[in-house]
Amino acid sequence: MSDTTDRDLHELAVKQAALGEVRGAPAADPVNAPMIRHWLDAMGDANPVYLDQGIAPPAMAQVWTMPGVRRGAKQGSPVDDVMAALDAGGFTGVVATNCEQTYHRPARLGERLTSATRFTDLAGPKRTALGEGYFATWNVTWYAESGEAVAEMLFRVLKFRPPERRPPSPPAEERRPYPLRPAVNRDTEFFWEGVRQGELRIQSCADCGELRHPPGPICPHCRSTNRAHVVASGEGTVYSYVVHHHPPVPGREPPFVVAVVSLPEGVRIVGNIVDCPPEAVGIGMSLRVTYRSMDDELVLPMWAPREP
Ligand code: ZN
Repeated sequence: MSDTTDRDLHELAVKQAALGEVRGAPAADPVNAPMIRHWLDAMGDANPVYLDQGIAPPAMAQVWTMPGVRRGAKQGSPVDDVMAALDAGGFTGVVATNCEQTYHRPARLGERLTSATRFTDLAGPKRTALGEGYFATWNVTWYAESGEAVAEMLFRVLKFRPPERRPPSPPAEERRPYPLRPAVNRDTEFFWEGVRQGELRIQSCADCGELRHPPGPICPHCRSTNRAHVVASGEGTVYSYVVHHHPPVPGREPPFVVAVVSLPEGVRIVGNIVDCPPEAVGIGMSLRVTYRSMDDELVLPMWAPREP
């Protein structure tokens, strides 16, 4: 990459940041009960408080102002030009790296929200496992008609230069590191430690015993922050699945299957189905966990058909 491109990108970033907060168009629809009902259904959230009190789940903030695929991505946001310049500079890959939402108050039925976007920062170029790239950060605030901020979000993406497609390589002596590393944090480290030991660990509440997956800081059942875990039997059944054909995923050869697997312990977990052609996968299929070594360090739990 030339220094000119780098300077141009940073100049554009400064210019876009100087625009400050840029308001988009008001949401196409006001906050409404049908959308809330669908969301709660999709999330499996049975809490009656939302529809009883006429308020939207806070995590729905972005739902109300989503433009939809056919209405064009150009919203006049200060982020668009930065993304276009990065694409033009060859940084065509994109992966979201951070999303932090802050909720000020619930949005109420009938309110029509407007989003406002502020471009915050462009950092780079940096070397990453995916390739050389730039981290772009912006903030979105959702406002009610009263001018009150309802929620805000910090969003960061890595725009990277995808590695050149190589001709089929001779068998490498050393294995290349698998590019997609799981995010290991205080909530999830017990899970990955288990995987290393060949155990499928499911977080449990140390107070009420309820199991939960993915791991999190608080028991959704009793609100306790005391955690423990159980070791799952390693059996499961396909609850739902997709066959991924496109876009390309670094380190993976499409098509591959991503499934939601129901465990007899009562939770569901997302994972790949292996040792089975995608067209042979079906809802309800019996599976057994298997541990796949992705490179010299990383092991991922995956699922294989259970022998009859
Ligand atoms: Zn609990």
